[in-house]
Amino acid sequence: MIREAIVIYDHFVTAQKIQSTLSPALLEHISIFQDTATALHEAKQADVCIVANSKSIDRDLKALLLLSKLIIVIVQDDNDEITVDRLNKLPISDYVGQNHEDWLHRLSTIIEHLQNNDQKKVLIVDDSQLTLTQVSTILETQNLVPLPFDNSSKALEYVLDNRNKTDLLIVDYEMPKLDGYTFCTAVRKKCSMEKLPILILSGTQDKRTIAKFLRLGANDYISKPFAPEEFKARVNNSLMISSMFEKVKKVAMIDHLTGLHNRTYFYSEGKQLFEDAKQSNTPLSICLGDIDNFKQINDTYGHHVGDLALQHVATVLRKVLRRSDLFIRFGGEEFVILLSNSPIDQGYAMAKKICKFLEKHPLELPEKKLTITISIGVSSKTGSLDEMLKFADNYMYKAKQLGKNRAYTEEYSSSKRV
Ligand code: GH3
Ligand code: MG
Ligand code: MG
Ligand code: MG
Repeated sequence: MIREAIVIYDHFVTAQKIQSTLSPALLEHISIFQDTATALHEAKQADVCIVANSKSIDRDLKALLLLSKLIIVIVQDDNDEITVDRLNKLPISDYVGQNHEDWLHRLSTIIEHLQNNDQKKVLIVDDSQLTLTQVSTILETQNLVPLPFDNSSKALEYVLDNRNKTDLLIVDYEMPKLDGYTFCTAVRKKCSMEKLPILILSGTQDKRTIAKFLRLGANDYISKPFAPEEFKARVNNSLMISSMFEKVKKVAMIDHLTGLHNRTYFYSEGKQLFEDAKQSNTPLSICLGDIDNFKQINDTYGHHVGDLALQHVATVLRKVLRRSDLFIRFGGEEFVILLSNSPIDQGYAMAKKICKFLEKHPLELPEKKLTITISIGVSSKTGSLDEMLKFADNYMYKAKQLGKNRAYTEEYSSSKRV
């Protein structure tokens, strides 16, 4: 994680502006130095070095690049073409020109991208060693880990085996044997655009080819030869978009009242857990719990206390459950628990334990203690997740009919239920 920075400056005011803009909003700690040697000696913990001393920049950069593995961002007095060309040849992360009025905002964006990149894995597949080396060097300056492949068949094999460990693919179009188009078609069959972004890298300017890739599900396209700034911007933007998508997805899968995962999460993660259990032939139990007389709690104490009761149930049950158990607010006053590696007798025992534990731990209101109880149906059917849930639901109703505050199942393992 990018947390600490050093600033090497020749104008104190510039260093101060950088410090107050970036810290504490983005960086935990920034030390400022006038002299590179002292900076390198004093700031061993730093992750990024912002060089804002244009007078001695060449000499200092050489020392920095040689002596440290720091990510380097340059703050220049001006952004004339000669300077930009010169900077583009260096393995620096990025640069900003102080002649732009929003240079501090631009500097913040660079740091934000570096933080978002956070050593993510970028697989590059290209038959040209030169391109692989050039792209890998640029990626390292962006706080990314390059995974270069000159063999597209091997690269495809790697991607399909390590889908969850790869964050971005950079794919050449023209390659012997398996070309970029075939490669992307195979990847897109398994991973969607938002899960694994693909950038196409190609020498062709043919608009039809570019369109063909974008229609196939490539996220972006870079023409060779490319300007390093364009390349960096496209890589960083792609990674930023997929992070944003991940964040939105996470928020959409959380129940805001209890902080538990919701039904949407259950149908994605739960399905996966169910399939994994089936494949590895390990038992799985599901508990469907419904708070008893909840309408009465709302009617007697008000909706606010009803909400507190829901939060209370979530907190208390979390204490009983294992970390590996999937605990969901399924809707209203219903909760679902998917117990991994648990045959029916264990699932049933857990459900009984939950009922007892909840009864013993009342909700403490200012004027009284309110005992909340729950009725739970337990199933361990192996047909499908929906079938399991349906049976658990039926058993939960049976538990209600039998007087509530209890667990119920009609499925038995070798040992009889007591
Ligand atoms: P039973 O013991 O048979 O389950 O009866 P019950 O009263 O718990 O069940 P019923 O289905 O009659 O009522 C459920 C109530 O839960 C009705 C609904 O207004 C309330 N409810 C659902 N979601 C929330 C919520 O987020 N907050 C609050 N306070 N109440 C909720
Ligand atoms: Mg090629
Ligand atoms: Mg209900
Ligand atoms: Mg209820």
